[in-house]
Amino acid sequence: MSLKVLKFGGSSVGSAEALRRAAAIVHTELPAGGLVVVSALRGSTDRILDACVAAAGGYLAEAQAHLTALRDRHREVATDLGLLPAVAAEWEPLFARLDQLLTGMGMLGEATPRGRDAALAVGETLSAHLVAACFGGTFREVREVMRTDARFGKARPQLADLRAAAAPWREGLATGTLWITQGFLGATAEGLTTTLGRGGSDTSATLLGEALDAEEVQIWTDVDGVLTADPSLVPEARPIPQMSLGEAEALSAFGAKVLHADSLAPGGRAGFRLVVGNTLRPGASRTEILPVSPLREPGAVTSVAYKEGISLLRFPASEGLEPPLEAARQLEEAGALRFGLVSSPAGTLLAVRPDTPAAARVLKALAASGPELEAGWAVVALVGEGLRADPLAALRHLAALGQEPVGGLLTGSSTVSIAFLVPESRLGDLIPRLHDRCVGQPSTHAAPCQKAG
Ligand code: ADP
Ligand code: ASP
Ligand code: MG
Repeated sequence: MSLKVLKFGGSSVGSAEALRRAAAIVHTELPAGGLVVVSALRGSTDRILDACVAAAGGYLAEAQAHLTALRDRHREVATDLGLLPAVAAEWEPLFARLDQLLTGMGMLGEATPRGRDAALAVGETLSAHLVAACFGGTFREVREVMRTDARFGKARPQLADLRAAAAPWREGLATGTLWITQGFLGATAEGLTTTLGRGGSDTSATLLGEALDAEEVQIWTDVDGVLTADPSLVPEARPIPQMSLGEAEALSAFGAKVLHADSLAPGGRAGFRLVVGNTLRPGASRTEILPVSPLREPGAVTSVAYKEGISLLRFPASEGLEPPLEAARQLEEAGALRFGLVSSPAGTLLAVRPDTPAAARVLKALAASGPELEAGWAVVALVGEGLRADPLAALRHLAALGQEPVGGLLTGSSTVSIAFLVPESRLGDLIPRLHDRCVGQPSTHAAPCQKAG
């Protein structure tokens, strides 16, 4: 039997109305059962993190206020759906556990990465129980199968162990049952809770799709598929009906939040169909992500991505490669995202985003030991299969905008993207202009980019 995995993000399960829409999608897409992966209700993960920070800082009343708000919000949504009695028995021990964890953090004066992951797991688990009740499915605990290493806060999946642990799920799902499970969470071999990094539910869905031999994974979110740019900076961004896995990979790696950066690799390995749709408008366009490239004209740019909050470490040439490589290793181990490591006879530049408190500490310690540190940068990427044939098209666009790529170009192994560094403060102006020039007109979307001048 062919299996489909559907993932619903925070906004798709954020209110009673959104949940009703999601239930209708499941009804249509999974008439003979399948697997549904859900995130925490929108805002819950941030709230739990705020509660941890407050508790660890000794502000227990504030931590309790966050817990109360979380409980009230969940109860309100469940009440709207008439499902509070159905979930209360599952929810109460989860709220009690979060309460205990926060009290423990308060006593220790510290929220360890391990403790934070245990607290965060409550958000996804509350949501999965509610969704199971709402969709008439069975809740399944994802930590039974999603084996990871012990890098709390940004755990890496252990693929062979995951596949082995998923064997009973493959059998169970083959009987045409509807199962609901949590995104974002994993567990070490010893059973300790981990998380896959912020936004990681997309990756949960694709990893499960791979382990369960799914034929299709659908990511349901709050926009009409993958768009030509982030709609918060470019309101006129358009949906991209079809894109290659390489384009989607580059787009997510360079910051487009719609797909978690680690979520594309499983599809590349397993070859299932990957679709992105809008829970709010299920009839609207969707994006299909293909293993092969759709036809693109040489030089055509499909989308523009960016990520702010980048710090640059500059190492003098005299020190050689060892210090920047060791810095990159330490930062990644602590959970930083690396956007570039560029070396020339004039020195080495390391561009990272310190996404975890541990990474921020490592960055500070490194800067104190020698390399020059500059915060406040952003990475901007032009992405398109058309750049394989004509990479210079991207540079012509930059030149035409009169925009100095002040921090330099980031070249990597991707042949479908060109990325460069700009000061963060330029993003609001630069991204809409770049979009307008490269992908702004529907007719130029799959056609060659305009020549500079
Ligand atoms: P979910 O909660 O469903 O996982 P996210 O907030 O993580 O949703 O991702 C969807 C959001 O990603 C959109 O609402 C949009 O603001 C943002 N986004 C950024 N870049 C893009 C892009 N190129 N295409 C679509 N959405 C994008
Ligand atoms: N709830 C988690 C987050 O907010 C995971 C996800 O939404 O994908 O980061
Ligand atoms: Mg997301």
